[in-house]
Amino acid sequence: MIKGILNAIYPRRCVLCMTSCRQSDDSPLDLCKDCQNDLPLMESACFQCAIPLQNTLEAQRCGQCLQKPPAFDHVISFYHYQQPLIWLIQQMKFHKRILLARLLSQLMVRRLQLHQSLSIPDAIIPVPLHHKRRYQRGFNQAEELAKSIAKALHCPLDSHYLERHLNNPQQSGLNAKQRRKNVKGVFRISHKTTKHYSHVAIIDDVMSTGSTLNEIARVLKKSGIKKVDVWVLARASR
Ligand SMILES: [Zn+2]
Ligand SMILES: [Zn+2]
Repeated sequence: MIKGILNAIYPRRCVLCMTSCRQSDDSPLDLCKDCQNDLPLMESACFQCAIPLQNTLEAQRCGQCLQKPPAFDHVISFYHYQQPLIWLIQQMKFHKRILLARLLSQLMVRRLQLHQSLSIPDAIIPVPLHHKRRYQRGFNQAEELAKSIAKALHCPLDSHYLERHLNNPQQSGLNAKQRRKNVKGVFRISHKTTKHYSHVAIIDDVMSTGSTLNEIARVLKKSGIKKVDVWVLARASR
């Protein structure tokens, strides 16, 4: 009842077009049906790196993954890194709109629940931020996304297993080779952990060239983990 009264006084508005989200919409998202339908959904992609491919068969890999496979085994990206998603992600990260993380994680959860053959990992691990950058931003967007996903899938969240112990410069503006060099040796397994996993899923908001995720998967596999999946909200094209 209180919820109904609050909705009447403060009707929920769509974060993109600002129209009020109707009561009849069964969706709890702060995004109207039209704007949800406008999101750049990823239809078919390489099984291993999620680069968009046309008319792929299930579990098909792109030429690059066949030639030189990355350290991660399977990437699920739900959307293309295009507008209006770019705006939503940037608002969350750079304008500290942490509530948008809830919306974006709900979108990820919905897509994950639609996945027919989703294999639930032993733990969900968000891409860590260096503690200085985390302090500046006030939160880690990957961790915010991971929290809701872990809860929805009843899967443990482990934000302490992996550490970003070096504060490397931001990847944006660097080419693929510079990006690979920039993330080398940046991550390590926490000395304090007592956990042993065989299958994990790494969570991040955006995947670009995949260098950061590849370096993380390399470190995780070196620690004995057999299978590393990656779940990202959006994937940029090469
Ligand atoms: Zn809308
Ligand atoms: Zn690929």
